[in-house]
Amino acid sequence: MLHFPELEQFGVIAAMSDKTDGDCSREAPAEAGRSSFLAQLGIGEDKLILPKQIHGNCVHVAWPSWPKEEQRWTPGSVGEADALAAAAPGWALGVTVADCVPVLLVSLEPRAIAVVHAGREGTRQHITSNALATLVERFGAVPAGINAVIGPSAGPCCYEVSVALADSFAAGGFPVRGRFLDLWAANQLELVRAGVPAEQVHVSGHCTICSGRFHSFRTDKTGARNLALISLRVGS
Ligand SMILES: [Zn+2]
Repeated sequence: MLHFPELEQFGVIAAMSDKTDGDCSREAPAEAGRSSFLAQLGIGEDKLILPKQIHGNCVHVAWPSWPKEEQRWTPGSVGEADALAAAAPGWALGVTVADCVPVLLVSLEPRAIAVVHAGREGTRQHITSNALATLVERFGAVPAGINAVIGPSAGPCCYEVSVALADSFAAGGFPVRGRFLDLWAANQLELVRAGVPAEQVHVSGHCTICSGRFHSFRTDKTGARNLALISLRVGS
């Protein structure tokens, strides 16, 4: 597993599983990897919220009055979304990825968190800036008080696509080098354009395609996934 100390210094658990943690996909049984990964982090399986990811731009929100909403937020009931935002300590918000970009966000004051599944399509549909806007609009966060991690995913070294796709990405104002997309820079740019200081957006720099450490759909062609999660520590 990989921890993100850039965020954990702010009283959150922020980590991502790797191949040594097994298959942490939403569809896989917990014993395939999720349960031991969560146990190592001290997170109960009943505290993990995983959306059904659809490569869209929808953010699901848990209000600060979470206890009232808890019924709706039992694991598995969250429905379709590609980002989650919450202010309730003790719950873990997760996304599963294998080349798509996980983005983790922390607002220091007021305290709130978000997790984003930003693949090529989600990035194009601005899912990351939508999640940031949700933290601002629903929880009162300010962009200058946000810290973020762009997690392990397909890197600019390896993420080659068709000419047509690369052209359409470039036309959308996203960074492209020839036929290679840079989803790390694209998501960083989304946050910086929305007011997050560049030095508070940390790119982990691990490429899932060439590092060999993480599940990669492009490399392995399996359904196995890495789980990226964030959770506000209780009492911090
Ligand atoms: Zn690479």
